Amino acid sequence: MRRTLVAGNWKMNASQAQTESLVAGILDAGELDCDIAVFPPSLYLTQAVALASGSHLSVGGQNCADQISGAFTGEVSAQMLADCGAQMVIIGHSERRTLYGETDGVVLAKTRLALDSGLVAVVCVGETLDERKAGDAENVVATQLALLLKELSDSDWDKVVIAYEPVWAIGTGETATPEQAQQIHAAIRGMLAGRSAAIAERTQILYGGSVKAANAAELFSQPDIDGGLVGGASLDVAEFIGICRA
Ligand code: PEP
Repeated sequence: MRRTLVAGNWKMNASQAQTESLVAGILDAGELDCDIAVFPPSLYLTQAVALASGSHLSVGGQNCADQISGAFTGEVSAQMLADCGAQMVIIGHSERRTLYGETDGVVLAKTRLALDSGLVAVVCVGETLDERKAGDAENVVATQLALLLKELSDSDWDKVVIAYEPVWAIGTGETATPEQAQQIHAAIRGMLAGRSAAIAERTQILYGGSVKAANAAELFSQPDIDGGLVGGASLDVAEFIGICRA
């Protein structure tokens, strides 16, 4: 049985004071019927880890380098995230793919390093509006997943979460309908099943794209949606907890 995961991606937002209040607010709500994770900017990761220590709340990085270590000024490695207490890392977010040119090869390299560092890799996939209009949504996602399906071992998949995030729904206020999301989630599960029925059965597939407390219940009730990757709404504790309760 797959657990529901609600993951809050703070992006390049928050401060030390907000890190404290957001984590405290989540902890105040107590344990809910889902797993919860937050992904603060890496500067605030150690603080969030300390605040969440011993609790049900997991903390992760928003990105990691595609190299182990060395002369890569400004980069943060997966090993460093793990060393600072992160349990997870987001990889291949559409903002990284479009603004920083991350290819599927880079996403695979980062995923490999994340897994080798003991982190859960939350790998993001999703189509643009033009790709959807052209009827290519499933093909785009299949291409984004192909290298992972080919290169990762069965046991690697124990530590991989897929986040389906249609690019046109991220930060736009426009959400995929539960039916649109379920259709792609089912297709993704089918792609995983092409590799292994067991992997398809156990891999969590999150939906991301303007998830709010008001639309979360309907999205999460779809059979192949195992929770959400939440951007904007994760910066508002009441809204985020509302999503977790959904
Ligand atoms: C995201 O950044 O992963 C995201 C889904 O953002 P938002 O919830 O703001 O659309």
